[in-house]
Amino acid sequence: MKVPAVALETAHLIDRLDRLARAREAAGELNPAQWEALRFIARANRFSRTPAALAEYVGSTRGTVSQTLIALEQKRHLTRRPSTRDGRSIELELTAAGERMLKDDPILLLAADLAQVDVTRLNAVAETLRGALHSLITRNGGRAFGACFTCRHFRKAANPAARTPHHCALLDEPLSEADSVAICVEQESR
Ligand code: SF4
Repeated sequence: MKVPAVALETAHLIDRLDRLARAREAAGELNPAQWEALRFIARANRFSRTPAALAEYVGSTRGTVSQTLIALEQKRHLTRRPSTRDGRSIELELTAAGERMLKDDPILLLAADLAQVDVTRLNAVAETLRGALHSLITRNGGRAFGACFTCRHFRKAANPAARTPHHCALLDEPLSEADSVAICVEQESR
């Protein structure tokens, strides 16, 4: 396959950044899979904080994800309990210790480096990467896990006076401002 040199170089840069960021992860108390799980739980909305959604997000098996979650629970970074929405499912929740751990997430160093770039250029980079991710997911047949406000089922300010002003037309559930930027297993781009 022939691709422009700049596209190939960008792919190599992404690959190298990923490897270097992960090298720092391995030096601490958590392994890379455990970091990925903590980040997912912190970013996912209440419909998506389940072992099944996590397994799909990271492209792993439920058995492997289950081992990761057991380890994180033993380290007291998360709790697992039966879902209040669906009794057959498990709900994952970060503990205060898990939230503290994420304040030292090695990925924040990469974000701090990126924050040096002008915000307009950074938005363009993010948009480009979102497009590349979308193509990859479409090829692999996976789910997008995009932010809620980008979903075709998101109804902005459906109930403006409420504490949860937005609405999910798919699940018929109210959504807060925080929910609107969370990632979701059911998200479908407009
Ligand atoms: S609007 Fe879309 S992304 Fe948001 S909760 Fe509903 S299905 Fe999920």
